[in-house]
Amino acid sequence: PPTFKVTVVGSGNWGSVASKLIASNTLKLSSFHDEVKMWVFEETLPSGEKLTDVINDTNENVKYLPGIKLGRNVVADPDLENAVRDANMLVFVTPHQFMEGICKKLIGKIRSDSQAISLIKGMEVKKEGPCMISTLISQQLGVNCCVLMGANIANEIAVEKFSEATVGYRGNREIAENWVQLFSTPYFMVSACQDVEGVELCGTLKNVVAIAAGFVDGLDMGNNTKAAIMRIGLREMKAFSKLLFSSVKDSTFFESCGVADLITTCLGGRNRKCAEAFAKNGGKRSFDELEAEMLQGQKLQGVSTAKEVYEVLKHKGWLEMFPLFTTVHEICTGRLPPTSIVEYSEHTPKFP
Ligand code: NAD
Ligand code: 13P
Repeated sequence: PPTFKVTVVGSGNWGSVASKLIASNTLKLSSFHDEVKMWVFEETLPSGEKLTDVINDTNENVKYLPGIKLGRNVVADPDLENAVRDANMLVFVTPHQFMEGICKKLIGKIRSDSQAISLIKGMEVKKEGPCMISTLISQQLGVNCCVLMGANIANEIAVEKFSEATVGYRGNREIAENWVQLFSTPYFMVSACQDVEGVELCGTLKNVVAIAAGFVDGLDMGNNTKAAIMRIGLREMKAFSKLLFSSVKDSTFFESCGVADLITTCLGGRNRKCAEAFAKNGGKRSFDELEAEMLQGQKLQGVSTAKEVYEVLKHKGWLEMFPLFTTVHEICTGRLPPTSIVEYSEHTPKFP
């Protein structure tokens, strides 16, 4: 009999594509139950119908991934507790700002033999310091939590265009291999990397660099400037990750979760798109306004991550070491104009 039962917690743009990928595999792998539950943050559509009902009737997430069939074995459930009740493999994929609340609701509600994986790019900052989302999940719920990050624009994977991803794990390689098997398809090539902090920080920090790249696009500064911003951003990603966790490996930055995700997000991501519009408007329209207008309910992660990174830098006395991260936050909050994204380089960073 199958050993593993999967629930996906989250049903946004990437959450829906992740459910589709997983559901295509659970049908083929005998160790997995066919059915994949997908928790939906319930909402009422303009038609008056509930999103969950429409997903279950049409097999499509008409709001966050229109036009794509998820697979008949994906079952949407608006009740969080019910959605996780029978599962022993939990996939977390919501915008990062909602995870603390979701974890609180799940305490004591999940199976004791559960494994978890986070596809969430972001972090929390607490009084004690920064807390990665996989750490939040494993601490709050008492589970092992791997991560999956990579150059993964969801809409491209939805139409089965080839891409790669990285599973970050600590300790037990067998658990990581189980996740690799669950996600891998001929068009989605997943490899495992024993550096959970490095993989998760890559996915998180590149969203801040993508905001900077979007400013450069909005100001029509051209490809050389954008490449320079990406290079400087990558250098800050690496320096920040290693200062926080000395275990982070250089090689992780050459995996899909590193340089590849940085490139795709700076070329085609939502953070880039909204930051371009922000700079085009001279910073006069807020990111909240642009997000609501341009993303139809999808959420940006880069602006809040820039704030979270800024808090860490300030607390640790590292602001001058990270001029790009610092400047992105100061532009987002209106303290500096978008043009200062390149002027920042006049401040010679003390390090790196
Ligand atoms: P999304 O941006 O489509 O976000 C919208 C989701 O948030 C919807 O499911 C909505 O119902 C839900 N939501 C809204 N308010 C909520 C609340 N109060 N509580 C709980 N949920 C609420 O989501 P996504 O694209 O699936 O992104 C999830 C994570 O995956 C993010 O960390 C993102 O960085 C990461 N990611 C996204 C992509 C992509 O291309 N979309 C690719 C890789 C990684
Ligand atoms: P955006 O959230 O900027 O669209 O980035 C998506 C992503 O993480 C691609 O890997």
